[in-house]
Amino acid sequence: MEPGSDAERTGTVLMRGELTGQAGWDYAPAPESRDVVTLAGEYGLFIGGEFVPAASGRLLPTVNPATEETLAQVAEAGEADVDRAVAAARDAYERVWGPMPGAERAKYLYRIARLLQERSREFAVLESLDNGKPIKESRDVDVPLAAAHFFYHAGWADKLEHAGFGPSPRPLGVAGQVIPWNFPLLMAAWKLAPALAAGNTCVLKPAETTPLTALLLAEVCQQAGLPPGVVNVTTGAGSAGAALVAHPGVDKVAFTGSTEVGKQIQRAVAGTGKRLTLELGGKAANIVFDDAPVEAAVEGIVNGIFFNQGHVCCAGSRLLVQEPAADAVVGRLRDRLATLRLGDPLDKNTDIGAINSREQLGKIRELSDAGEAEGAERWSPPCELPGRGFWFPPTVFTGVSPSHRIAREEIFGPVLSVLTFRTPGEAVAKANNTPYGLSAGVWTEKGSRILWLAQRLRAGVVWANTYNRFDPASPFGGYRESGFGREGGRHGLGAYLDV
Ligand code: NAP
Ligand code: MG
Repeated sequence: MEPGSDAERTGTVLMRGELTGQAGWDYAPAPESRDVVTLAGEYGLFIGGEFVPAASGRLLPTVNPATEETLAQVAEAGEADVDRAVAAARDAYERVWGPMPGAERAKYLYRIARLLQERSREFAVLESLDNGKPIKESRDVDVPLAAAHFFYHAGWADKLEHAGFGPSPRPLGVAGQVIPWNFPLLMAAWKLAPALAAGNTCVLKPAETTPLTALLLAEVCQQAGLPPGVVNVTTGAGSAGAALVAHPGVDKVAFTGSTEVGKQIQRAVAGTGKRLTLELGGKAANIVFDDAPVEAAVEGIVNGIFFNQGHVCCAGSRLLVQEPAADAVVGRLRDRLATLRLGDPLDKNTDIGAINSREQLGKIRELSDAGEAEGAERWSPPCELPGRGFWFPPTVFTGVSPSHRIAREEIFGPVLSVLTFRTPGEAVAKANNTPYGLSAGVWTEKGSRILWLAQRLRAGVVWANTYNRFDPASPFGGYRESGFGREGGRHGLGAYLDV
């Protein structure tokens, strides 16, 4: 069979290896060793520089989504624990961290960054175990970017008066920070690094299904000699997040998660005088013009929606492709998807890992079934799913219309909806036809067209001829139902200063 032939594109026949005429050839397993990680059976909350049990003594399990194995039991914070953590943060803010010169604070941030680098394998393996993401990604993206965030913000700590916020910008006080499960360590770094650089102290609430790297980061804070109470980690369920957000001792709330919970938080904070930033969901358009180099665009499409199993708020979940190029792009995309390797997240060759939870898998299945029921055409490459754990094959829907649920709702999984357009104006109209506004991608050889589109796309980030690029110096955030406020860069720093 010829690569790219119709039979291959239908995805019914081909075995991996036949593409190159080497039937039977496959990658040997290349598992990363788990030995670098020492799991405790039980984890406490990190309050006032120490690991302590929850007042209620309650624990929640965290599982490895690739095997359903319980990795550990983790303390479930209640209101009393949140209260203790906020008090510890307040005390540290007033006595130690607030008055400390920026150049001194910077030293701690540099130390945390270097410890993250030194312990990077441990962090990467633990992240892949707890979250299900491929080790290739936790090793090459999550952990290095988390360290980069601490390095970048360490550089700001002693330069705040030169950051354009006036001669002596003040910190806000105690920051209550709630994060999701898709980039557990990286989101913790996005929250903590700017807050600490600006002179605030923090109480962080990780997601229930992925608490372990935040707790390892707490251990790194201890190792770095960070004064007790400057960073506190209150693991637990959504109720622990709600208690933190509602706590009167919190001066600033930073939330990353779903639009639904973001709205609840906005209501809870309204009228309290607390500062708020919300990083919520998205339904980004990745727009491919017919002059774009197909190979590069296909790599960008794959990276846009299949990176991190599509559990990415800024995922390019809607492919808008210009009509004359649609067949070539979709055909080449199917060929490429047939080469993706799904399976053991700790295998260094794995491209697609496990779905983070049974609950999330249920949501992905429900929306994908709705796509089929509404008349879109569903396709996945031949792909064997492991017997245990939570898995979903890379999936492409063609024949999608803008009214379909799969074109409107965030799926937060490895599912791409393909729509077409004819003119740049139609591309903009379709791309903006969403309540969200977090990100977009544009693929074209024409620089002028990129600028024209970037001015019209209502998205916080527009990538041109690339996708899912992150840098601590670059602000990230959304419009409308994707939230408000920016993280990263000078703008992100401003969200933690009284300016
Ligand atoms: P989620 O249900 O909103 O949860 C996010 C965090 O909030 C978790 O720690 C959660 O705790 C906690 N939480 C739940 N209910 C709460 C409440 N009433 N008050 C305070 N905190 C509460 O979102 P998710 O399902 O974990 O994450 C996926 C969503 O996050 C997607 O919609 C995605 O687009 C969005 N996201 C956005 C960005 C961005 O930068 N814009 C980045 C990543 C993800 P539990 O885990 O214990 O429920
Ligand atoms: Mg887990």
